[in-house]
Amino acid sequence: MARILIIEDEPSMRMGLIDNLEFEGYETDSADDGVVGLEKINNGKYDLIILDLMLPRLSGFDVCKKIRESGNKTPVILLTAKGEEIDKVVGLEIGADDYITKPFSLRELIARIKAVLRRSSESDQNSNSIMIGKLELHFKTFNEFENGTEVQMSHREFELLEYLWNHRNQTVSRNSILKDVWKQEATTTRTIDNFILRLRQKIETDPDHPKIILTVHGIGYKLISG
Ligand code: CA
Repeated sequence: MARILIIEDEPSMRMGLIDNLEFEGYETDSADDGVVGLEKINNGKYDLIILDLMLPRLSGFDVCKKIRESGNKTPVILLTAKGEEIDKVVGLEIGADDYITKPFSLRELIARIKAVLRRSSESDQNSNSIMIGKLELHFKTFNEFENGTEVQMSHREFELLEYLWNHRNQTVSRNSILKDVWKQEATTTRTIDNFILRLRQKIETDPDHPKIILTVHGIGYKLISG
């Protein structure tokens, strides 16, 4: 279950949040000023931070700015009081993911928390990438990069490479590639060979002497990965 840090100086609000979020099944930790909150963020691991804007010693704005400057990407929901309503743009500029104005209903807060946690777990998955030869591949987003520069690859090339990767260190026959990657479409094994040549151009350091996508004579191909 997600672990949530609550940074809020008003005791009744802080205690109310702790009780309600724990009742909802979240694990909580809390701080009652900005300095302690920042220390906890720097020394702990949280899935989400609920951050009051007006705090003693260090404001919520400064806490948020500082954690983003340090490269910490933990999602932040800002709490603002009535009368200190902030511009959404300002919230986003300092790196908050969402904000909610007091007084708010618990249901509204829980909905925001769920939405922010869902977005952050999706973006974690999107950042999962693998290296094949020279290429860094993001299977979820169908993006591929060479040294940080996006490489052009057709959707079919990507599917073929993903298929080989999913069967890495195994020999896959041309016929199974035809069946699983090209599905019902009529094509020839010659097409597959051409796609393999194109993939090698993108992946292999020396495409004429492939070390990653090997030819298994008379059968098909094998993607080698350590
Ligand atoms: Ca406050």
